[in-house]
Amino acid sequence: MHEWALAEAVIKAASDIAQKEKMVEVTEVNVKIGELQQVEREILQFALQQLKPANFKNTKFKITKAKTQLKCRNCGNTWQLKKQQLDPTTREAIHFVPEVAHTYIKCPRCGSPDFEITQGRGIWLETVKGTR
Ligand SMILES: [Zn+2]
Repeated sequence: MHEWALAEAVIKAASDIAQKEKMVEVTEVNVKIGELQQVEREILQFALQQLKPANFKNTKFKITKAKTQLKCRNCGNTWQLKKQQLDPTTREAIHFVPEVAHTYIKCPRCGSPDFEITQGRGIWLETVKGTR
């Protein structure tokens, strides 16, 4: 049921933007989901359709997955997690418990396992388009 909570958050955030930008009607909302975030895209899409308010009547919700980006705390290097470089078991483990990533992934520059996930978790709005 967590897709419904996410859908609510998406609509709330998009509504805030629409209001700030003085949009009469919202036509398109681009939603990005981090690939480490467990979201059923179909359920989210369905929830968005059910929850959308009047000024979202003709809104197209585009939901895309975002790559995982990591930043080394030791040397400041940033890199993208290439899932194909991980074996399927590791991939699965990271998908369910992103914290275990630290066991498997090291900074490609300095080898430090101390990094943060700067992108790839959570859900955010990329763009909100509408008519004024
Ligand atoms: Zn490093």
